[in-house]
Amino acid sequence: MEHVSSGAAPLIDPFARAITYLRVSVTDRCDFRCVYCMSENMQFLPKKELLTLEELDRMCTTFIGLGVRKLRITGGEPLVRRDIMTFFQGMKRHLDAGVLDELTLTTNGSQLSRFAEPLVAAGVRRINISLDTLDEAKFAQITRWGRLKQVMDGIDAAQAAGLRVKINAVALKGFNEDELFTLQDWCASRDMDLTFIEVMPMGDLGNEDRIDQYWSLKDLRARLADRFTLTDLPLRTGGPARYVELEETGQKIGFITPLTHNFCESCNRVRLTCTGQLYMCLGQEDMADLRAPLRASEGNTVLEDAIRKAISLKPKGHDFDYSRQAVDGQMSRHMSHTGG
Ligand code: SAM
Ligand code: SF4
Repeated sequence: MEHVSSGAAPLIDPFARAITYLRVSVTDRCDFRCVYCMSENMQFLPKKELLTLEELDRMCTTFIGLGVRKLRITGGEPLVRRDIMTFFQGMKRHLDAGVLDELTLTTNGSQLSRFAEPLVAAGVRRINISLDTLDEAKFAQITRWGRLKQVMDGIDAAQAAGLRVKINAVALKGFNEDELFTLQDWCASRDMDLTFIEVMPMGDLGNEDRIDQYWSLKDLRARLADRFTLTDLPLRTGGPARYVELEETGQKIGFITPLTHNFCESCNRVRLTCTGQLYMCLGQEDMADLRAPLRASEGNTVLEDAIRKAISLKPKGHDFDYSRQAVDGQMSRHMSHTGG
């Protein structure tokens, strides 16, 4: 019988935040090339750099033994990783054992026609699907390689399989501003929650491009308030999202504003890359390599020590700052690397 709940002390960082949420990027590859996320000719990691599925399982299992209660699988596109369902099926044992509360994923939706049912069978109940536009031509433009129809089929399959779907849309100036109400309406008609994400200074688009694309969620919110009565919801996830309810529809709308809000005080999460690097904060370069300690021995003591040491270095917050019109704290790594 596997040793999961070791009764070990939970992971508490230097600012008294309990780390209960692990986001895991299982691949840096993707079948899309969204312009704000990747360059057109991305160089991907050699396969041998990646944690194997067995290593990913061991890593997540160790975190769960240290008190992580929620796993979000992301990428790159998590569903393009070969045999990824084996990993999901493996994680189901922790849900069954009651040591994991939630297993979920963030996906571009392209592979859901195939995988919605197997995901449900593995214990997944809710998923986030990223979709910025309902216009076929604009979709092709923003994702470079994506086809809207395939994602729509994926969303249909997800809902038919009983998955609760939340749509995540990146707010992009001059791109989907005019679709604010179309998106909101469409989500309401399909009983899906909707969250808008402010674009972050990631990847390698020039700084000017980046600021050009920036559409403040404050503005977006004000436009919603022109048409609806907004009630702030106290709902807090420990993450960067804030929620409002539209009184007229009862719909919940989320806002992720990493650049204009300081949400760090309640941060309960860390991020693992597909090569086993642990990022303690999305906005800081600090990371700890967990692959070497994982591979150093078959027992997990070395790995657990490395995880505790990493958590003891979790910084207080991030340094993104647009206020001076220069992108201070600009991150050189891509979202597809840390998984967003
Ligand atoms: N491929 C999956 C997907 O698209 O949902 C999972 C990985 S993707 C990196 C996770 C989320 O990050 C997506 O919702 C995507 O829109 C968002 N994202 C990527 N680059 C971003 C950026 N520069 N600013 C804000 N959000 C970004
Ligand atoms: Fe792929 Fe998601 Fe990045 Fe788009 S946002 S390129 S779908 S990883």
